[in-house]
Amino acid sequence: MSKNKEQGFSTRNLHADRADKPEHGVLHKPIHTSVAYTYDDARDLAAVFQGKMAGFSYGRQQNPTVNALQARITKMEQGLTSTAFATGMAAIGSTLFALLRAGDHMIASAFLFGNTNSLFNSFRNFGIEVSFVDTTSASAVAAAIQDNTRLVFTETIANPVTQVADLEGIGQLCQQHGLIYLVDNTMTSPWLFQPVSVGASFVVNSLTKTIGGHGNALGGMLTDTGLFDWSSYDNIFDNYRNGDVRLWGTTQVRKKGLRDFGATLGPEAAHHLAIGSETLPLRMDRTCDNAQSLAEFCEKNPAIKQVYYPGLPHHPQHKRATSLFKKYGSIMSIDLADHIDCFDFLNRLQCVVSSSNLGDTRTLAIPVAHTIYYEMGAERRASMGVSDNMIRLSVGIEDIDDLLQDFSQALS
Ligand SMILES: *Cc1c(COP(=O)(O)O)cnc(C)c1O
Repeated sequence: MSKNKEQGFSTRNLHADRADKPEHGVLHKPIHTSVAYTYDDARDLAAVFQGKMAGFSYGRQQNPTVNALQARITKMEQGLTSTAFATGMAAIGSTLFALLRAGDHMIASAFLFGNTNSLFNSFRNFGIEVSFVDTTSASAVAAAIQDNTRLVFTETIANPVTQVADLEGIGQLCQQHGLIYLVDNTMTSPWLFQPVSVGASFVVNSLTKTIGGHGNALGGMLTDTGLFDWSSYDNIFDNYRNGDVRLWGTTQVRKKGLRDFGATLGPEAAHHLAIGSETLPLRMDRTCDNAQSLAEFCEKNPAIKQVYYPGLPHHPQHKRATSLFKKYGSIMSIDLADHIDCFDFLNRLQCVVSSSNLGDTRTLAIPVAHTIYYEMGAERRASMGVSDNMIRLSVGIEDIDDLLQDFSQALS
């Protein structure tokens, strides 16, 4: 293999573990369970703690198995460096906790993963102002910018209604106004889209979903793209204002977020997620193709009022999704006709499983208003376009004919 030629996404990912010559020539990164580390010279231990020497100090901050996964995701996202967390929520919460202060303002998408929405509402109790705006429109984001705005947070494809944010337009705004641009890439994954291409400062992925891909481990990752200029960001504490300026933000997230909050990814979960990540492109291509076929099938079925999927030509952001993403994702939602009871429909499905997760190998279906968006209340649901008879689907890798047949029997 020529050293100079850039390898493809899958090749790089599959061979990532061998880069730092693991013991015994193992092909998979070993699962390192040790919480503590020792050094021949006690001075080295001190140097590691003081950040003067690279090395491991304590399992809450770093672990070799977790580091290997961080390196993989950094490559996938073409970023500078990544920090792993126990879950996607921990990645989001710890990052904002580390970078924002009372009196700051942030702009967030009005169409958010339910728990992220709940978390941002809690931040309000700590003196952080939050504006929820329609991020499909960069001008709506522009109108919300204030003197104390620090950060914009959006997802790529929103769940469950599948709105596609104006990722490019918001990127330009953040650049002009010096705002941190945090993109939750979970719905697209780095296989379909790399937020660094639209100027994101940070990318969040819930590894629990398509990257891990098998519904058997929780994890979250924050990737720093290296694009944000931290030298003019007041919230960086003095003791983190040294060394490579591109790393100041990540350093503060690792100290104040990961170390102090302690939502650390465990080595066993990191191992599951790393194995899962090896087949991300294969699984994602298949789930996207299945979702497209299922969306087209549902469109023609009179028992379904409305289909939400960015791959359909009438989707409001179909053109944007086509220009930004490799494919249209594995999430779609449907509004059942009024005469169909959503629970009866779910009970009639035989292959498709009623469950909340996303990005599993199996196709999962959930009645949105009655479960994941229940706590939000009817008013907020209505503002987000979530009807009482909406079913969200996370399409899996089954044989498409079996999925179509299951839908057609459950709808008839
Ligand atoms: C699931 C999800 C999260 C949270 O991830 P967890 O690993 O479940 O904590 C965040 N954002 C999006 C878009 C998600 O789908």
